[in-house]
Amino acid sequence: MSIITDVIESTKAIIQGMGVTLSYIPKQKWTVQYPDEPVTVQPRYRGQHLLHVDELGREKCVACYLCAAACPSECIYIVAADDPRPPDQRTGVDERYAAVYNIDYGRCIFCGYCVEACPKDAITHGYNFELSVYSRADLLKTKDDLLITKQLQSKNYRVAFSHEDVDSEYKEV
Ligand code: SF4
Ligand code: SF4
Repeated sequence: MSIITDVIESTKAIIQGMGVTLSYIPKQKWTVQYPDEPVTVQPRYRGQHLLHVDELGREKCVACYLCAAACPSECIYIVAADDPRPPDQRTGVDERYAAVYNIDYGRCIFCGYCVEACPKDAITHGYNFELSVYSRADLLKTKDDLLITKQLQSKNYRVAFSHEDVDSEYKEV
């Protein structure tokens, strides 16, 4: 008797499970044929960082180290330098600038604390998520990799419009 009950219960469970599976067949699919189709990322997405410049192309970073101090992973490395040239000829907006600005993406946890800490809006998260490399050493990105004027942007993603961002506030970066 118990065997018959087991068979009936198992059959019911299988039918229930198949019912759930079959119910998903007519629903909208979320599979993206990446990289043939671009992935849609949310506006708040935290990808590879961008180091920003002002309207004259001068680097906004003043090498204050606040981002490095805020970083829980200790993956930001900065070397400050002085640029005593006149303001319009300087590398940065201030006399002091970051001669070296590295982020080790082997350690970064994309927490955004560095962005929050920066008093100059010099660093934000961009959208690039294609950071896979074959060598761990290649995860170390330098200022040339991070500067907004030099960072190569992939065509394999698009940023969602604000009305597509249904579950969070739209945050422009
Ligand atoms: S996102 Fe977080 S872990 Fe990554 S560099 Fe910024 S503070 Fe450090
Ligand atoms: S990115 Fe911002 S917080 Fe970091 S060193 Fe430059 S100015 Fe300071």
